[in-house]
Amino acid sequence: MKRKIILNGRVLDKIAELTRKYNEVENGGLIYGRMNPKWVHIFDVSDAGKHAKRSRSGVIFDTEYLIQYTNQKLKEDLFVIGTWHSHPTGYSLYPSSIDKNTMQKINKRFDPLHYPVFMITKWESNKLYFNLYEINEDNRISEILLYEIVE
Ligand SMILES: [Zn+2]
Repeated sequence: MKRKIILNGRVLDKIAELTRKYNEVENGGLIYGRMNPKWVHIFDVSDAGKHAKRSRSGVIFDTEYLIQYTNQKLKEDLFVIGTWHSHPTGYSLYPSSIDKNTMQKINKRFDPLHYPVFMITKWESNKLYFNLYEINEDNRISEILLYEIVE
């Protein structure tokens, strides 16, 4: 059964800003929200943090910042439900082999009924582009084509 993915509009605004600001390199962070086997609701995302290392080939998150941000979100009953990262302008939205590997590793840390969502973004032609992904039961990566944006 397919899960329904719901995205808050202001989360997309935030992702657009974090992608645009670092459009020559990769940026990223964690995705926060709530989920059950039927739906995933995305309420917020983090940045990579002040001490993150952003380059054209990847981003290394600032762990200290992520722990703090995550603790803050937990107080609001929002949980880590996946990760996002951007690709530099001109690149595709498809996961690289390193991306796929990372997604599969992260997927294994979640329980099978509450598997994570992944997002790849880029800033191009003054616009945010993004793709959503999840890992199937057979460990293959598939693009999530159905999602809803709410206010
Ligand atoms: Zn990537």
